[in-house]
Amino acid sequence: MTFHIPPHRPKTPGAQAFLTDAPKKLLIANEWHDAAGGGTFATHDPASGALLAQIAEGTTADAGSAVAAARAALSDPAWRDMKPSQRGRLLWTIADLIEAHADELAELETLDQGKSWATSRMAEIPAAAEQFRYYAGFANKILGQTIPTSIGYHPPGKKIFAYTAREPVGVVAAITPWNSPLLMAAMKLAPALCAGCTVVLKPAEETSLTALRLGELLIEAGLPAGVVNIVTGFGAVVGAHLTAHRDVDKVAFTGSTEVGRMIVAAAQGNLKKLTLELGGKSPAIVMPDADLDLALPGVARGIFANSGQVCVAGSRAYVHSSLHDAFVEGLAREASRLRLGHGLDSDTDLGPLVSAGQAARVAAYVDEGKADGADIAAGGTRLGADSAFFSPTVVAGVRPDMRLMREEIFGPVIAVTTFDEPEEALAHANDTDYGLAASVWTQDLSAAHRLAAGIRAGTVWINCHSYFSPELPKGGHGESGWGYENGAQGLENYLETKTVCAVI
Ligand code: ADP
Repeated sequence: MTFHIPPHRPKTPGAQAFLTDAPKKLLIANEWHDAAGGGTFATHDPASGALLAQIAEGTTADAGSAVAAARAALSDPAWRDMKPSQRGRLLWTIADLIEAHADELAELETLDQGKSWATSRMAEIPAAAEQFRYYAGFANKILGQTIPTSIGYHPPGKKIFAYTAREPVGVVAAITPWNSPLLMAAMKLAPALCAGCTVVLKPAEETSLTALRLGELLIEAGLPAGVVNIVTGFGAVVGAHLTAHRDVDKVAFTGSTEVGRMIVAAAQGNLKKLTLELGGKSPAIVMPDADLDLALPGVARGIFANSGQVCVAGSRAYVHSSLHDAFVEGLAREASRLRLGHGLDSDTDLGPLVSAGQAARVAAYVDEGKADGADIAAGGTRLGADSAFFSPTVVAGVRPDMRLMREEIFGPVIAVTTFDEPEEALAHANDTDYGLAASVWTQDLSAAHRLAAGIRAGTVWINCHSYFSPELPKGGHGESGWGYENGAQGLENYLETKTVCAVI
């Protein structure tokens, strides 16, 4: 089957004005620049293959200029001395601007990444605004403590007065992936700005458009020059330079475990602080008493949303053997109901993957599983040789040693197998180097919380999968990462503690 999707011209005036023939530029110190050397690269609509824009191909020199601008902004009184409530207002204004431009941002996101309009417009763009609103309220509540001390070697008649102050960690390199571009950028920018840091943002090369449009909105919001700089370009050049740069104090990264390891190595030079949100292979455990009316659409959404290109996607299901056949049949039904098409078409449930290359990668996993004897209960096909579309796929009879069960596929593919005892389900769930997320489907409260306690993962959902909110810390155990995003913990990653101790 081949999919021919005609090119979509942008409909919103904002996206039309943004997608002109002129190449998109880098943002350094609130000015838009061509890349040093003038290079550009193309970004395409993955559904139709149409060219969307040329984008400045940042160099190491550009990354260096952006870091210098961020370093200078850190001690610029316009930013350093901004009152906390003013920083909060600025974050709130950014949220207002994202909401005011939500239609065009959603259109740009869908054109560039492929995801459905509903996912962009109803979920991710509002969630990006919500990140700024959440941290807006924190900006004037970042507090130190006064601390009574116990050791008494101060001069007679004197006493110790000690307190802590919280300070921004400094210049942050924020490196984001292509699956949820604006939301991932917001998850780093909002806490960084709340803490008073300055940022160099490097969006994924496949999906830079909404970050660049956000750059325009940040200027409109009144962010002082150099506080946020955006350098588009390739990870091996711009990303690698930022992660090794001695004037970058912290890297906030979301992406693959493989690149996460490279960043750990690159960051050694000046021992940068790191937060790494990496890969996952999140299990869904379906207990014998699970309510299938809830579990089937819930597990389906957990794997097929955004075509499976979600770090926490529930990509392996362990189903009690008493429910297995009904579950596989039901999940296959859910999968085959999903309509594929251009993300901007109103009857589309699932768009393409981010690129034809990603669809080929997914196809290779499924073909290998088939060759190893797994059963394709639904989907399993790439829609055309050069297409970025892959049908929602349910694979049953997957053994624990198969790559389908072990590796992050980042596509709409779920591997299913059975268990008989809860301990067995738990052992399967934890049989992974990852530890990002999991879901448990049961009506038995005790069983749900016992499983939640036993699963090694940063997030466990009960009777849902992929529920997010800026209040909820999100991070990975094991090789799924270091540190947390969101919530009060997410802010901690952008702050240092200074202890001041005085004899008075
Ligand atoms: P994914 O393909 O899952 O999005 P990647 O880990 O390949 O994840 O990419 C995530 C981000 O990391 C992208 O912005 C990419 O450009 C960037 N990146 C890739 N290689 C490097 C590297 N060596 N150093 C720093 N950043 C990199």
